[in-house]
Amino acid sequence: MQAFNQLNTKDIVDYLIILDIDGTLINDDEHQLDKKTLDKISELKESNQIYLCSNSRNHERNKKVASLANVEYLDTDIRKPSKKILDLIDHSPFKKRLVIGDKFLTDGLFAKNIKAEFIKTKRITSENDRLYIKFLYLIDDWAYAIFEKLENLKT
Ligand SMILES: [Mg+2]
Repeated sequence: MQAFNQLNTKDIVDYLIILDIDGTLINDDEHQLDKKTLDKISELKESNQIYLCSNSRNHERNKKVASLANVEYLDTDIRKPSKKILDLIDHSPFKKRLVIGDKFLTDGLFAKNIKAEFIKTKRITSENDRLYIKFLYLIDDWAYAIFEKLENLKT
């Protein structure tokens, strides 16, 4: 599993990309995007349409992040994995959809719900992450581990 800023983007072309914020671009509650992350977003932007989408309701902060990255932000209280999020976007020009995020239970299931491909990124965490955020990460990792086991059984 790779960090977002280390993704190989050469095969990511002509996608509608829905990009998570917390744990993917920055750790929970952080405001600044580092240069590597900004460069990677620019790289993806050259040949794809990107929307930032977060389950955090801190819209002001999320908008700041979006304006730093110069991409659009989906300002909504609808939360992943609801496929209603797709209704907020003019998605008709795009045949291919991609969700990039660190969480299986939100980003991964959202990708499934909107028939998108999913890239699960290595999570960015901090010792200062709030306790309930750490707890949610733990649950997500368990769920993903179980999912992977079941997938392996199928093959
Ligand atoms: Mg996240």
